Amino acid sequence: MKDSTCIFCKIANDEIPAATIYEDEDFMVILDLGPAARGHALILPKQHYANIYELDESIAAKAFVLAKKMAAHMTEVLGCEGFNIVQNNGPLAGQTVFHFHIHLIPRYPDDQVGL
Ligand code: 5GP
Ligand code: ZN
Repeated sequence: MKDSTCIFCKIANDEIPAATIYEDEDFMVILDLGPAARGHALILPKQHYANIYELDESIAAKAFVLAKKMAAHMTEVLGCEGFNIVQNNGPLAGQTVFHFHIHLIPRYPDDQVGL
């Protein structure tokens, strides 16, 4: 399902650009436009699911496996010394883009990330 008003659907459909660091049949991994730390990236499914409540279970399982692989890869490439994996659901929880996504946030000594 595609939502024509959704910014991440537009990215998944190549209608607007993003700095893509990984892509497969089901997912894109893009750099966050407003990074909390250097290399902050987002895993997003190409299909539109507003949040974790709507998310297909098989996509949920694949997404976490991908998060694990990306964390290892990004740690090697970026030289970060820790890693936050964050996923927000609903405005009260800080969700601002209503297309399911997982934040991959590399952490460095003395960074200013406040979660
Ligand atoms: P949320 O607050 O919904 O968990 O996270 C949304 C994230 O998407 C924010 O960190 C924000 O910086 C990022 N973001 C919003 N619009 C865009 C965009 O057009 N492109 C990219 N790459 N990131 C975006
Ligand atoms: Zn969408």
